[in-house]
Amino acid sequence: DFVEFNKFFERIIERFEMSKSQNVHFIKLLPETSYFVDIDTDKLTQVIDNIISNAIKYSPDGGNIRFGFTVSNNMLKVMISDDGMGIPKENVGRIFDRFYRVDRARARSMGGTGLGLAIAREMIEAHGGKIWAESEEGVGTTIFFTLPYAEDETEDWE
Ligand code: ATP
Ligand code: MG
Repeated sequence: DFVEFNKFFERIIERFEMSKSQNVHFIKLLPETSYFVDIDTDKLTQVIDNIISNAIKYSPDGGNIRFGFTVSNNMLKVMISDDGMGIPKENVGRIFDRFYRVDRARARSMGGTGLGLAIAREMIEAHGGKIWAESEEGVGTTIFFTLPYAEDETEDWE
């Protein structure tokens, strides 16, 4: 589907904002300009849902979650950032592996299967993008992903 990414992203963020039970603050830094992407909206929704659920799950009470994206080289670079517990350096590269969870004890109490980010990576790569994480233990985690965008909606019809 051909969708305006700004609106699509905002709608997902708003859905979480209405339903979240934890005391976390959402901060949105989204460009005013419209950017169109040609995506499988169900799959991209699943990807973003998992990233946001993780950010909430691993955030402290009163934590901030930041949403933003920037544009360069015909790619959107999306970032979702939390100031939660973070991930030890030696484990950051593995969180996109199937069934990988940083700490079994902590993982057990948090629920989940460890598949969310592995699926996210598959789906982002299928859309021609990349996904990665930057994290510091005790400071927070940022998940980045890229997606190719179309200059404007008419481009598809030519
Ligand atoms: P599932 O998504 O299948 O319910 P999950 O959330 O444990 O389970 P992933 O979403 O794949 O699995 O994440 C893998 C692991 O990466 C998590 O178990 C957690 O240890 C770590 N992780 C992911 N996001 C964050 C984050 N925002 N802050 C800290 N750790 C994170
Ligand atoms: Mg998850």
